[in-house]
Amino acid sequence: MSDNNYEIAIVGGGPAGITAALYAGRSRVKTIVLERGAVGGQLWNTADIDDYPGLSMQTGPEVAQKFEEHAKKFGAEFEFGTVSKISKQGDEFVIETDEGEEYRALSVIVTVGGEARKLGVPGEQELAGAGVSYCAVCDGAFFQDKTIAVVGGGDSALEEGAFLTRYGSKVYLVHRRDEFRASPVLVEHFDATGKTEKILNSVVEEIVGDGKVTGLRVKNNETGEVSEIAVDAVFPFVGFTPHSDIFEDGLVETDEGGHILTDAKMETKTPGLFAAGDVRSQYVRQITNAVGDATTAALAAAAHVEAAKRTKATA
Ligand code: NAP
Repeated sequence: MSDNNYEIAIVGGGPAGITAALYAGRSRVKTIVLERGAVGGQLWNTADIDDYPGLSMQTGPEVAQKFEEHAKKFGAEFEFGTVSKISKQGDEFVIETDEGEEYRALSVIVTVGGEARKLGVPGEQELAGAGVSYCAVCDGAFFQDKTIAVVGGGDSALEEGAFLTRYGSKVYLVHRRDEFRASPVLVEHFDATGKTEKILNSVVEEIVGDGKVTGLRVKNNETGEVSEIAVDAVFPFVGFTPHSDIFEDGLVETDEGGHILTDAKMETKTPGLFAAGDVRSQYVRQITNAVGDATTAALAAAAHVEAAKRTKATA
């Protein structure tokens, strides 16, 4: 097998990718993990992990490092690479990167996750990095004793909003409804900080500022009233766009949100091509189910590799 030929290629090194690497390594299958950033993925942007058994209140970066060390123990190789295209040639997958590398593998597990959805309002792009941020862990400390707004009503908004109360003197939560997708425990935790105020049934119309954020223009959905609140920072947490645009036409099917459809083995419509983690179409996006699904994907991929090798040997 030449240098860039593998039995399993794992694209993405977040919790799902790391777990797939651990199980592929334990299956004694020649495995590479391609990751374009830090191994650990979104764990690096997560304050505290409190919903993974046995890891109560450890920081995301701590958990990322432990996961990586553990996976490497079983022999998977980790390489830097931004995968731009996955295609199929005969019984092999071809994985191309922006850096000009080409890898070949009998099976591919895609765990590329996605990125923060944008609000798409005036001021958001212009003030990105000048008060607009999508990462509380990365940027929260810049707003010590300042007024912060988070936008959204899901787990991310409530969890990261509570985290931001460590820095901000006040944290507003702007949400377009008066009910939350977030789990009740996260809403309670957010309220219990005593530094928060919820602005409900309200949408952000504009992020205001000249060189740096100074306010938010917010419209109440029920009354139509528009008001401006003075804030120094805005953290939109309004969902997630999966990175599912790297496939040759016809290799995968997606749901209406762009998440990849798989069967119970995490296999896409193309045999040997698997998906796990946030890029996959599923009911919840937790670390626990990402690592569970990645376990299934890795063991199914290893079985696919064994069957492909047997077929080759008898051909
Ligand atoms: P999410 O669950 O999809 O929630 C997105 C929130 O943003 C919703 O409240 C939505 O409002 C709102 N929203 C969407 N577009 C908007 C817009 N244009 N303007 C204003 N508000 C908008 O996304 P998430 O919170 O990022 O979570 C993603 C997944 O990761 C979820 O499955 C979540 O459970 C998981 N997660 C888990 C944890 C944890 O367990 N600790 C932490 C973070 C994330 P509506 O409700 O009105 O649609």
